[in-house]
Amino acid sequence: KKFPGDFSGNPMQRATPKVLFSTVSPAGFDNPELIIFNEKLSEEIGLGKFEENDLDFLVGNNLPPNIQPYATAYAGHQFGNWAGQLGDGRAILAGEIISDSGKKNEIQWKGPGATPYSRHADGRAVLRSSVREYLMSEAMYHLGVPTTRALSLCFTGEDVIRDMMYNGNPQKEKGAIIIRTAESFLRFGHYELISAQAEYKTLQDLVDFTILNYFPEITSSDSEKYKDFFKSICTRTADLMTEWFRVGFVHGVMNTDNMSVLGLTIDYGPYSMMDEYDLNFTPNTTDLPGRRYAFGKQGQISQWNLWQLANALHPLIKDEKFLENTLNNYGNYFWEAHDKMLCRKFGFDQLLDGDEEFFSNWQGLMQELEFDHTLFFNQLEKLKEGDDLKELFENVSYTFLNDDLLNKLKHFIQKYKERISKNKITKEASLNLMQKANPKFILRNYLLYQCIEEINEGKKDLLKKINTCPRKSLSGNLS
Ligand code: AMP
Ligand code: MG
Ligand code: MG
Repeated sequence: KKFPGDFSGNPMQRATPKVLFSTVSPAGFDNPELIIFNEKLSEEIGLGKFEENDLDFLVGNNLPPNIQPYATAYAGHQFGNWAGQLGDGRAILAGEIISDSGKKNEIQWKGPGATPYSRHADGRAVLRSSVREYLMSEAMYHLGVPTTRALSLCFTGEDVIRDMMYNGNPQKEKGAIIIRTAESFLRFGHYELISAQAEYKTLQDLVDFTILNYFPEITSSDSEKYKDFFKSICTRTADLMTEWFRVGFVHGVMNTDNMSVLGLTIDYGPYSMMDEYDLNFTPNTTDLPGRRYAFGKQGQISQWNLWQLANALHPLIKDEKFLENTLNNYGNYFWEAHDKMLCRKFGFDQLLDGDEEFFSNWQGLMQELEFDHTLFFNQLEKLKEGDDLKELFENVSYTFLNDDLLNKLKHFIQKYKERISKNKITKEASLNLMQKANPKFILRNYLLYQCIEEINEGKKDLLKKINTCPRKSLSGNLS
C-alpha cells in the first residue's frame, strides 16, 4: 500500500498487522542546507564524491524513480515492558547500495517526516539530536566500536516544535536530517513483532533472509542454523557490550527496539561518554530513579533483552533447554570477554587467576577516588618506576586526593606492578596493548554542547575541529 508523505494527525496512522514495511515518501523540504558530508564514507560505500545537486537527495527531495523509500514495522520492550507495535517513526529507508568490494549498506534518512509508524509524533528531528548522532556514531566507529555510521547532516530549513525539558514550554528548534548507513538496521524488535502476531512463516522467512545476508559465520542448515543464529546474536551482543565498557559509552535507552541483531550500536539518543567513572551513571533523565540503563548494568540488560529475543525466536527453535542454557552461558561469555578487554586496558598479556579480584578492586578505587575513566588509563600508560603518584593522578580525579585516598592509590599501584611483572611479553608490547585499547580522545558532552550551539548560530569551526580529531589535539582536560 502506498502512503502519502505526511501523516501528522492523519487518521490513516494505525497499527499495521501482517506488514513488515510500508512504502512511504519523505515529506520534502524547500530550503535545505548542507552542514557536513562524510566524503570518506560516501566513497567507501560506493556513492562517490558529493556533487552540488546531491543536497536534494540528502534531505529526501526529488528522488530518482529507481528509489522506492520505505519504513519498517517493529515492536519492542521499553523499560522492561512490552510496548507492542512501534516502527520507523522518524526514519525512512532509501534502499541498499553495494560497493565495488561487495559490501552492502542500507541508506536511511532520520527525520524526513512521518510514516505509518509515527503514532502521534511528527517524524522530524531537531538539530541537537542530529548533530549528536552524526558525531558520536562516527566517533564510535573510529574508536573501533561496531556501529551504524553517518553520511550527512543537513538543515531542513524548517522549524520543529519540541517541549523543552527545562521550562515545559513548547520551543522552536531548527529541523535537521541525517543520513545514516548500516549493513542492516534490523532490530530485536523486528522479530518480536512478527512473533507476537504469530506469523511464524514470515518469522522464518525473515530469519532465513537475515542469516543469508548478514551471518556468514553460520554454515549449518535446518533447525541447527536457527540455534546458531541465536548463539551468534548472543556473541555479537556480548562483544558489543564489552566494547561499550572499553570506551566508557552509556547508551541510555537499551530497549529491545534499539538493539541491533547484527551487534551494532544503534539509535543514538540520550547516550553519553562517561567522564567520572561511575557504574550507576545514566545520561537518561527519564531513567532516574530506576537507572535501568546505567553504565554498569549494560551487560545484565543486554542479557534481559536477549531473553525477549529468545521468546520471539522460540517458535523457530522450539528447544527450551537450548535457549535457557545459551542465555545462562551468556554471563560467562560476557564476563570473560569483558575481563580480557580489561586485561588489554591494563597491558596484561593474558587473563590470570586473581584478575577478577584485581578488577573489582580497581572498580572500587575508580569510584572512591572519582577518577576520569579515559584519563586514568592515559596516565597509567605513563607510569614509570619512582613516579610521584599524586603528581601523575591528581589532575584526572574529580575529588581532592587526601592522604587516605593517596594511600589507597599507592596500594593499588603496588598490586598493579606485581601483576604486570607476571607478563610474558615485553614492556613495549604491554604498552602497545594499552594504547590500542584505551581511547586517547573521547567525544565529551561539553564539546557536543558547544558544537551544537555553534552550528545553531551558523558556525562550523568546532565541528571541523572535532571531525578531524584525533589528529588535532582536542579534549583531554577536565575544564
Ligand atoms: P526511540 O526512543 O528514539 O528509540 O523511539 C521509540 C519509537 O518512537 C520509535 O518507534 C521511533 O520511531 C518513534 N519516534 C521517536 N521520535 C519520533 C518522532 N519525532 N516522530 C515519529 N516517531 C518518533
Ligand atoms: Mg529507537
Ligand atoms: Mg562521586
